[in-house]
Amino acid sequence: LDLRPTTTTTTTCGYCGVGCTLDVHVRDGAVAAITPTHRAPVNRGHACIKGRFAHTFSRADDRLTAPLVRRGDQLVETTWDEALSTIANRLTSIRDEHGPDAIAMISSARATNEENYLAQKFLRTAIGTNSIDNCSRLCHSPSAAGLTASFGLAGGTNPLDDLDRTDCVLLAGANPSEAHPVVGARIKQRVMAGARLIVIDPRRTELASLADVHLQARPGSNVAVFNAIARVLIEEGHLDRDFIEQRTTSFNDLAQLVQENRLDHAAEIASVRAADLVEAARLFGRAQHPAIVYGLGITEHAHGTDGVRALANLALLRGSVGTPKGCGILPLRGQNNVQGASDMGALPDLLPGYQPVTDAAVRDRFAARWGGALPGRPGLRIPQMFDAAISGELRALHVIGEDVAHSDPNANHVRSALRACDFVVCQDIFLSHTAELADVVLPAASFLEKDGTFVNFDRRFQRVRPALIPPGQSATDFTIVHRIAEAMGVDLGCRTPAEALAECASLTPIFAGLSHQRLDAEGPLHWPCQTPDRPGSAVLYLNGFATPDGRAAFAARPYLPPGEEPDAQYPYTLITGRRLEHYNTGSMTRRTQNTELLPGEALELHPSDAAHLGVVEGTDVTVTSRWGQATLAAHVTRDVAPGQVFTSFHFPHAAVNRLTSPHTDAVTGCPEYKVTAVDIGAG
Ligand code: SF4
Repeated sequence: LDLRPTTTTTTTCGYCGVGCTLDVHVRDGAVAAITPTHRAPVNRGHACIKGRFAHTFSRADDRLTAPLVRRGDQLVETTWDEALSTIANRLTSIRDEHGPDAIAMISSARATNEENYLAQKFLRTAIGTNSIDNCSRLCHSPSAAGLTASFGLAGGTNPLDDLDRTDCVLLAGANPSEAHPVVGARIKQRVMAGARLIVIDPRRTELASLADVHLQARPGSNVAVFNAIARVLIEEGHLDRDFIEQRTTSFNDLAQLVQENRLDHAAEIASVRAADLVEAARLFGRAQHPAIVYGLGITEHAHGTDGVRALANLALLRGSVGTPKGCGILPLRGQNNVQGASDMGALPDLLPGYQPVTDAAVRDRFAARWGGALPGRPGLRIPQMFDAAISGELRALHVIGEDVAHSDPNANHVRSALRACDFVVCQDIFLSHTAELADVVLPAASFLEKDGTFVNFDRRFQRVRPALIPPGQSATDFTIVHRIAEAMGVDLGCRTPAEALAECASLTPIFAGLSHQRLDAEGPLHWPCQTPDRPGSAVLYLNGFATPDGRAAFAARPYLPPGEEPDAQYPYTLITGRRLEHYNTGSMTRRTQNTELLPGEALELHPSDAAHLGVVEGTDVTVTSRWGQATLAAHVTRDVAPGQVFTSFHFPHAAVNRLTSPHTDAVTGCPEYKVTAVDIGAG
């Protein structure tokens, strides 16, 4: 028996935002094995159990292999011709009858850059609306808003490799050992080599157990914690005064704000010891090369953008951003291409390269290349799309590769919104909860079957190459969007992914030097990459911040309470997150052997709460919030603090997003997944 692979294709992992380079070995049309690429600059021969082993979903029996169309209560197989003509007729009639803003699209952080570029071009030209968004709205939109306001650009400031030289990591609101394992391992290696580690997280994660200081701060208290650390840095003089004077603005506003906020008050808000806040500040303040790494525990809050800005303040106080000594600030992106989906303009207010739709000169430049006039009014954000569907303003929704009925907060509201639409189109690899509610479902290719690029969390463009042929009649999202446009009589141009990136580069200064040809020849490249003959900028702002005056801006943001807090009726705080073995809604990993490692989900609760509730390990508990109800088995653990409970959203049986609230970040509309007041009942 010869089990040797017949082909090996080097591509980029389609799970988390680390973007590991993987060698996919194929035999008889299926993946035989995946191994990490040894000389890859991002992962250096490392990969986690998702990237390495969670690939059998690609040939799962229930992959969608033919288009489906709704007949009554049923979705039945149909031809591509019928599916496309139905979509073209319905979208055209809704646009003509109700206007282009009656149609919206949710593009995909799982799709390639080129697919996102084509999708937003389709919506803006063939439909005539800016109502396109992607799931960064639900995770890192506060990073884009906060980092842009502080420094000028919507990305992390430094490469992952800078963790190799840091002497102190401040890790906030992230559990990379499970959600971004290659980064988690890199931090662990650095700690073993002597770097100090500060962890700010309500849970006792693996890295928290290795930390010099673990601030087990109450969910929703991030701004109070960061302002308290800023206060100690200023009071004790752990400042880069030259940097602050020469390269920043608004320092005095921050100094005044933190002076007015007592340390013991911040400690009380966060339920931590004031002495630990001081110790954390001193460790960070005395470091020569401090690094900040953060995740969704900072952004998915009612004041997530304030949290990002308060964290950015700490980097500015130490002069650790835009300088050779500093290791900057790194947002850990959740999905593989959530950075790229936003970079490509799958956003309601920004064209590719973060160019505003409200800027007439920008619109004219795109219109000259694309043909026709472009809409200038910003479109709907994802939560607004659901509200607009229920109010009747939005009539049609086109969803690419996102299971919003399972992944988005207040899921009952999302389902009502999908049912309220006159017409829903869904492109996916499986019949997701969202696809079940659609009128037409189109079978899409997985990342193992695609050609294009992803952008990882440290702004690296990396090539995605097809290792497999899409099964049955399924097709890449790139091909599907082209076919829909053609059925509507629109030619989107850029016939290949390479042509799409070339067109995007010609319209977008920060990507102007990028091309498939160059990525194939040189390997991954960071953006900004402005000319074809120079490398991209791995470290941002060495020659000035990308703000109008070239200076970074401190932000004086007071602590504000989360959207809801525990009370007599809902006395516990629910936090949601991810597990090592699974990924997001689990649609891919649950169809792999990773399910043998983690077959289901449970609700973590502290032993004191379990005793109070009369609950033991494995007891079914009913979790109730103001927004819905779910039943899970109890897992009694000291990893959560008393009064707090934790679970993931990987499993349909634990439909936790029926519980999460509609509260959103005041600036960006990012949902507050990390704080939901709940009650728990035994049985
Ligand atoms: Fe894939 Fe992320 Fe795991 Fe790397 S760390 S193999 S990118 S899931």
